Amino acid sequence: MSADEDRLSCPSAQPDMQDARIFGVIAGTPDEPRVAYLKKKAQVTPEMLEQLDGLDPTRVFRYAARCENGRCAQYEGGRCSLAQRIVTQLSPVVSDLPSCQIRDTCRWFVEEAGAACLRCPQVVTRVPSDQNALRAAAFKEDA
Ligand code: SF4
Repeated sequence: MSADEDRLSCPSAQPDMQDARIFGVIAGTPDEPRVAYLKKKAQVTPEMLEQLDGLDPTRVFRYAARCENGRCAQYEGGRCSLAQRIVTQLSPVVSDLPSCQIRDTCRWFVEEAGAACLRCPQVVTRVPSDQNALRAAAFKEDA
């Protein structure tokens, strides 16, 4: 793995991953979730998770964390297969790149450029059961 690879972040992380931080709040509706991108960094702390009062943190926030590279099930052929499916299977939901604090290190942006960003606001880590396009993109065919 190159030093550059080692610095990349996963934009669809879990709150307990290494260097996890919140970069977006999930807004919109249950049918059409949309991420509102935060301007400031917010580290994930146990106190913050407690304040959610039992709500699944991945239903409330989008998290970035250190990309796990080959230890992640989505990593294939040296790339993020999830980012590839998002770009090929989902439609853009915005016409301009969102203002996003993690773009410098985002693996999806490094690999798929702005095409990932135009689709990114509809991505939620916990996919609602009736979001067929998002589910198809989220899960590999052989999963
Ligand atoms: S894909 Fe684009 S908008 Fe989404 S997290 Fe990465 S840099 Fe930000």
